Amino acid sequence: MNRKQKKMLVRIVISAVLLVLVNLLPLPFWLRCAVYAAAYFCVGWDILRKAALGIKNRQVFDENFLMAVATLGAIALAVKEGSGDFNEAVAVMLFYQIGELFQSVAVGKSRRSIAALMDIRPDSANLEVDGKLEEVDPDEVPVGSVIVVNPGERVPIDGVVLEGASSLNTAALTGESAPRDVGAGDEIISGCINMSGVLRIRTTKEFGESTVSRILELVENASSNKSRSENFISRFARVYTPAVCFGALALALLPPLVRLMMGLDPLFGDWAYRALTFLVISCPCALVISIPLSFFAGIGGASREGILIKGSNYLETLSKVKTVVFDKTGTITKGVFEVSGVHHSDRDEAEIIEYAAHAECASSHPISRSLVRRYGKEPDRARVKDIEEISGHGVTATVDGVSVAAGNDKLMQRLGVEYIPCGSAGTVIHVALDGQYAGHILISDLEKEDIREALAALREAGVTRTVMLTGDAESAAKQVAERVGIDEYHSGLLPGDKVTIVEKLLKELGGSGRLAFVGDGINDAPVLSRADIGIAMGALGSDAAIEAADVVLMDDDPMKISRAIKISRKCLRIVYQNIIFALAVKLVCLLLGALGLAGMWAAIFADVGVMVLAVLNAMRALDTKRV
Ligand code: ADP
Ligand code: MG
Repeated sequence: MNRKQKKMLVRIVISAVLLVLVNLLPLPFWLRCAVYAAAYFCVGWDILRKAALGIKNRQVFDENFLMAVATLGAIALAVKEGSGDFNEAVAVMLFYQIGELFQSVAVGKSRRSIAALMDIRPDSANLEVDGKLEEVDPDEVPVGSVIVVNPGERVPIDGVVLEGASSLNTAALTGESAPRDVGAGDEIISGCINMSGVLRIRTTKEFGESTVSRILELVENASSNKSRSENFISRFARVYTPAVCFGALALALLPPLVRLMMGLDPLFGDWAYRALTFLVISCPCALVISIPLSFFAGIGGASREGILIKGSNYLETLSKVKTVVFDKTGTITKGVFEVSGVHHSDRDEAEIIEYAAHAECASSHPISRSLVRRYGKEPDRARVKDIEEISGHGVTATVDGVSVAAGNDKLMQRLGVEYIPCGSAGTVIHVALDGQYAGHILISDLEKEDIREALAALREAGVTRTVMLTGDAESAAKQVAERVGIDEYHSGLLPGDKVTIVEKLLKELGGSGRLAFVGDGINDAPVLSRADIGIAMGALGSDAAIEAADVVLMDDDPMKISRAIKISRKCLRIVYQNIIFALAVKLVCLLLGALGLAGMWAAIFADVGVMVLAVLNAMRALDTKRV
């Protein structure tokens, strides 16, 4: 329990003790009233205050208002009767607050269990200073310093391995249990656990910019981002709460008026009491509490599997996905290109690759990285000037004073360079030197091994249409689409065209089902944000993707897409179960209350009981093993 919860507990206990005392001790009338008042305000002042604020802000109808009116009404009735018995008002407030406390503890518990499973925050880093190791706060490690990670320790900061070889456990980040092997020269992300060897790492980021910090920030924001799920209930409460308030008013006034007209005793007091009971019963707290909690648990469960969902509204949208649109490079395919040849060039293959790799040295596009890898050495950035990356086209730069252009047909057309189209299947990088065509590099990418299974799993999860978009040429696109069995594909697209196509698909869908776009954030950030739901893959490392996407998959395993959809469906099922259960119980209680068969005590018991059950059900969403 945190301090706030402890304070609430103290208030509840004081109020309960006062309530017991006032009923046991033979106190004079005025003292009884004073003790009741003390008990009531001790436990309920914040509810009254929130209700008053709600009225001031013109957001009248919420559960605080219901509780305030019901209890103040009960007090008014007791005053009118002159009985001096205010047990009901105090007890209702007391039980309501006990329920609130229970739920806040439950939320805290699920938050902690998520935090424990996402326990990736490193405590310290071993910083190398003048050849000696110092244990420091990860926050204090400057970019470019050397740190040492011993076996069993968590990598505190993103970096590149200088020395050593080891395997890393990335389970906390990706939910993936297979270890990842790293050696000198490999990039390494924070949050993984070093399993076997000692690693010397040169840090490439500050702690605050490192993967660990970004993930924690994302998860924390998603869970505090309550407004999203509040929308869901407030949409409901906007209709429901005023309706029950007016219902209660009608119940208090109409029957007595009818009785009056019939010449009977109007029994105003009785009907007023029934109306107040009605108000207590109608308090939607089981919903108000359990729905955000279910979403929260669903988001937490997903994050343990390496699926980060940025808010509960995205979880809701995800559960309705019918169409999934994929970007090709890095999503369907591995984005690790192999050079299969250099064609139509009168120069040396190595020379062409050297020029291209240097021109591409600053880009994070999979093609660029592959060319640099093929070049085999670190490109010398001092030789390169005026780098310009034209998305969906390629790059231009000046290397050793020679102006180099490397890219697709569109780039050549744009620069007005005559090029020779390639007959072979694959991705083609045309190279022009000083405006003269210098041949093309043919590269090919491999599909991800489990992409076919991933597509099948998507269909099983209720997705009816799969589409692939790519900036690559028709021939390469066709080959991939046929091999993996995707329903349709569109090729030769610029990033802007991808948006246009997604907009067209959105229109075709109309309201039926939602559209998800899956990409790697490279050249497709606009589409990620345009789709109903943007899913970024392999986000360990790509800032653009984390920014633009609504759902971030920590690794590039395509099976996670269907997992995410299934988890969201389970969560929404729980939400609907809770809604139906709570409403059904409410409805029965409302009827009993209106008929005068259930008093305010019964009402508050039913309310807290339903809430406890709904909260327990909500916690099930945390378990993503069974979806
Ligand atoms: P995809 O839609 O498959 O993810 P992109 O939209 O990122 O591909 O790029 C589309 C095409 O533009 C690539 O197939 C390539 O021909 C060209 N291209 C983009 N960026 C580069 C680059 N950095 N170097 C060379 N060619 C590039
Ligand atoms: Mg791409």
